[in-house]
Amino acid sequence: MSFDTLGLKAELLRAVVAQGYTTPTPIQSQAIPVVLDGHDVLAGAQTGTGKTAAFTLPLLQRLDDGTGHHKHPRALILTPTRELAAQVAESVETYGAHLKLRHTVVFGGVGFNPQADKIRRGVDIIVATPGRLLDHANQRTVDLSHVQILVLDEADRMLDMGFIHDIRKVLALLPGKRQNLLFSATYSDDIKKLADKLLRDPVLIEVARRNTTAETVAQAAYRVDRQRKRELLAKLINEGDWHQVLVFTRTKHGANRLAKQLESDGITTAAIHGNKSQSARTSALAGFKTGKIQALIATDIAARGLDIDRLPHVVNYELPNVPEDYVHRIGRTGRAGEEGVALSLVSGDEVSYLKSIERLLKRKLDVEIVPGFEPTGDDGPSEDDDRPPRGHNPRRGGGRSQAKPATRSAGEGHNRNRPGHQDKANSSQPAANQSRRRRPAPRSM
Ligand code: AMP
Repeated sequence: MSFDTLGLKAELLRAVVAQGYTTPTPIQSQAIPVVLDGHDVLAGAQTGTGKTAAFTLPLLQRLDDGTGHHKHPRALILTPTRELAAQVAESVETYGAHLKLRHTVVFGGVGFNPQADKIRRGVDIIVATPGRLLDHANQRTVDLSHVQILVLDEADRMLDMGFIHDIRKVLALLPGKRQNLLFSATYSDDIKKLADKLLRDPVLIEVARRNTTAETVAQAAYRVDRQRKRELLAKLINEGDWHQVLVFTRTKHGANRLAKQLESDGITTAAIHGNKSQSARTSALAGFKTGKIQALIATDIAARGLDIDRLPHVVNYELPNVPEDYVHRIGRTGRAGEEGVALSLVSGDEVSYLKSIERLLKRKLDVEIVPGFEPTGDDGPSEDDDRPPRGHNPRRGGGRSQAKPATRSAGEGHNRNRPGHQDKANSSQPAANQSRRRRPAPRSM
């Protein structure tokens, strides 16, 4: 399979070749012809599958109708986080390099007026987080009544972050006749409801989840006392000569503390989470990409959507209390066919999290003990959590707990009107081990 057979015009193929891509990924080969044909799409695909190009390339082609400049945006791409919005906009720029379409990116935490000026000058495509886009709509700096194509990227995360009300408000501003593309890594009942409301006779596309591409991600777990995790991590980084490692903590507080500790171990480190300013996050990410920063410590939400090519190492410093987050985390490594290593440091109190993850993956992870770091059973005082567990209560033996009000990291995008979290324990996963495509209704999933 090559890109030439998908129906893309020469200008787009040139841009793809310039990226060094020779073969479309499964989501690309399935979605591109369908989107070009004007169908609505419900795609089960997560970051790392090449989903951004899967919707961006055909979207650019459909907008490039040779009719010259349009005053109002004709495509809207909504994303849950600022980072993802910025990365999608980068892809629009890259793939649209040889077309005359104009785009802009709109998210909170940065100046409103420069965005308004850019929109007023005329753009074909807007990439946005929902809250700031609504601010623009309310200030009448954007007119969404000409939008022909709507993309909801990482729709599950948008719902998780409480954006459903904002999404509904945005939908009310769009014309009824348009093409809708919904991308989501998981299919919760809420996603199905949204898909039912939004999509007309959608083509369903599912591609393998990252956890099933096990040949490119080596996963292992080390059992270790909690208070010795930092020491073990520093040893792994130093002795393994790791130059680029993304480390996940459960909390913002934990991310900051670990970053400080690793710095004192001589490892250049930065933390990235919702309490950091946009400029601090951007510069940490840039430093990490260029190799100036060796270890980037991130919380789940902050890391969502980060596009870092060929990330060799991902460490779960703390296991996520939501098993699906494990899949998202390790999706950061071994991307687009590259090899990667995902390691988890598991303290005694996290063994139940590990079991939940293994149940989700339907496989056991190798649990090893590093000589000199044998667990004593003493995990020390418990860490303070700045986010309550969702859909999992280890004290109740991993049963489905009642949803508590969310305190997910604030500051990722614009999360006004947050109604509390969705209980992801109810998510049903797309079938894992094969790519397939079906038509019709999303209810069948
Ligand atoms: P995404 O799932 O859109 O976040 O993309 C994941 C990564 O795969 C990005 O770093 C892309 O640059 C890369 N990528 C996308 N399409 C291809 C392709 N056809 N071949 C190789 N790499 C790709």
